[in-house]
Amino acid sequence: MMYMTSSSGHSGSHADPPHHLIHLASILAAAILVLTLLAAGSLAYETEHVMLVIVDGLRYTEGLGDSNHTYVPKMHRLSEQGAIVEPFVNDRHTNTMRAVPAIWCGGWTEVITFKDRHCGGSENIHCEMPTVFEYYRKGLDRERTDCIYVLGDVGCPWKASLSPAFGPDFWPLYHSVGVTDMDVWAQATDILETFHPSLFLLYLSRVDHFGHSGSWSYYTRSIELADSIVGMLWDFIESDSVYAGKTTMFVTNDHGRHTDDFTGHDCDCEGCRTVQLLAVGPDIRQGLVSNTPRTICDITPTIGELLGFSTEMATGAVMYELLIGDALQDSIIDPIDAGDPPTLIEP
Ligand SMILES: [Zn+2]
Ligand SMILES: [Zn+2]
Repeated sequence: MMYMTSSSGHSGSHADPPHHLIHLASILAAAILVLTLLAAGSLAYETEHVMLVIVDGLRYTEGLGDSNHTYVPKMHRLSEQGAIVEPFVNDRHTNTMRAVPAIWCGGWTEVITFKDRHCGGSENIHCEMPTVFEYYRKGLDRERTDCIYVLGDVGCPWKASLSPAFGPDFWPLYHSVGVTDMDVWAQATDILETFHPSLFLLYLSRVDHFGHSGSWSYYTRSIELADSIVGMLWDFIESDSVYAGKTTMFVTNDHGRHTDDFTGHDCDCEGCRTVQLLAVGPDIRQGLVSNTPRTICDITPTIGELLGFSTEMATGAVMYELLIGDALQDSIIDPIDAGDPPTLIEP
């Protein structure tokens, strides 16, 4: 008799397994693939590098909340390639010493005073909760030079946690040099070209500094400069062979400024609370203005989701609604629509 191959589409031969078995096997293979991807915690995101820019004390009404985007033309253009969140808020302490660590930690961490041996024993603060840097370095087993925090010369940079499970072995490389935001940007380009870190944080302080100075023109010019630095950073990413097409950039603020007085902040008025989240990159939905309310604590869990590491002590949540690779999440029934919760039966 004639032997037939399975590709003939005919199952008349003794040599071929029945079609329904082949079918079952391919369904099982597909199911295993999906489960493997789920277990990896990352549904094939394109992102391999994340850059986070914190612009200190930029009030939303002078930022992307201004429909004419007077001072932020570059970030406005980037928002059309990516996503913004409205409302995005600092929901607790609208001062830098609490809010910047909250961004790092993905939660409202306590900050603790200690004698910092990395700064000759001088007094400094560290976070109680682990930071994105520590989760990243420990979770993905990365070198310190792959995780760099660039900021101006602040004397002794505030430190990440001393948590026994994380701590100094997993701190980022702190590079604290320069005074103006342009100085810091020059340092940043050097660092990026030299080390190509996959987790990079850039902190720009001058918008807040000049806001406090009381000069509206210095304040707004500082915003324009920060905007152009964000634009230059994205241009750098796009023109660099390591980063292009594989990098997600987030731009946010630690706090805003009083609704009726740009010279100060640190209360719970709308101006102090309302900040910006701009996200752009290969896994970010394009041109999205997301109206799901979010806070600064949601950034770190979202970075973990994209790069594939756990942020287990963070209290914020992943902003799945910004992500393209989120087809599976879209199909999950919203818990609000899933019917009444089961009734507890009294014993
Ligand atoms: Zn301030
Ligand atoms: Zn206020």
